[in-house]
Amino acid sequence: MSFVDLEGVSLTYRLGKATTLALADATLSVAKGEFIAVVGPSGCGKSTIMKLVTGLLPPSTGQVRVAGQRVTRPIKGVGMAFQNPTLMPWRTTIDNILLPMEVVEPHKRRFRRHRAEYEARAMKLLGTVGLTDFADKYPWQLSGGMQQRSNLCRALIHEPELLMLDEPFGALDAFTREELWGVMQALWLERRFTGILVTHDLREAVYLADTVYVMSRRPGRVVLRRSIDLPRPRT
Ligand code: ADP
Ligand code: ADP
Repeated sequence: MSFVDLEGVSLTYRLGKATTLALADATLSVAKGEFIAVVGPSGCGKSTIMKLVTGLLPPSTGQVRVAGQRVTRPIKGVGMAFQNPTLMPWRTTIDNILLPMEVVEPHKRRFRRHRAEYEARAMKLLGTVGLTDFADKYPWQLSGGMQQRSNLCRALIHEPELLMLDEPFGALDAFTREELWGVMQALWLERRFTGILVTHDLREAVYLADTVYVMSRRPGRVVLRRSIDLPRPRT
């Protein structure tokens, strides 16, 4: 049973008279707990796939399903991380990570009542990414790699079943990026989320994903689906 399904999905952007076929007849299925990567050059439709899966855009043709439900509007409860960690500069690491819990708890009293539990959860995530000693530091006191580690913790604090990653390591130097691949694996081992990673780094895709989808530029088409069978910590 798959958790995320795209079935013959096409998407055409219309701007006045101009149309762009951004995604052509894409079929893709992600099992629960599976980690897939979508690779391809800039402009091949990777971000469009992210928007379709999260329901920010309706497909022009075909169907998108998440957890057995047809996606027709923005879905809730998805973790997301992008290239730039947008941590709030006036909040410490732990307070940045707790922010999504403050947002989903509409009543401040309720958030305060659960704060200790959420903090313990955040500290566990910080331990996994190696930032236990940085919980009370501010973003400007962290390196780029550490900021992205915090960002990943924030994306996982509400324990989403689905984690969407759009070029999360794209802004990091090669050394730090590879360090973060290890961090990503450690997080997956702890949380077992279903992961969808969009990247143009084929090595990153092969390193992290169980299945890699390769896309071509024009029109945005999935040209290859390959399961990766490398010895990696998966149990
Ligand atoms: P990628 O993420 O792989 O770089 P995108 O999904 O962003 O690719 O874009 C796929 C194609 O759709 C590109 O040709 C891009 O120019 C076009 N496109 C993306 N967003 C829009 C939009 N909002 N309006 C019109 N064209 C768009
Ligand atoms: P809350 O979620 O309670 O609004 P925030 O973390 O968003 O808390 O903001 C904390 C405090 O920082 C607030 O008093 C807010 O007004 C202030 N603040 C908002 N924007 C900025 C900013 N760009 N730089 C510094 N402080 C800010």
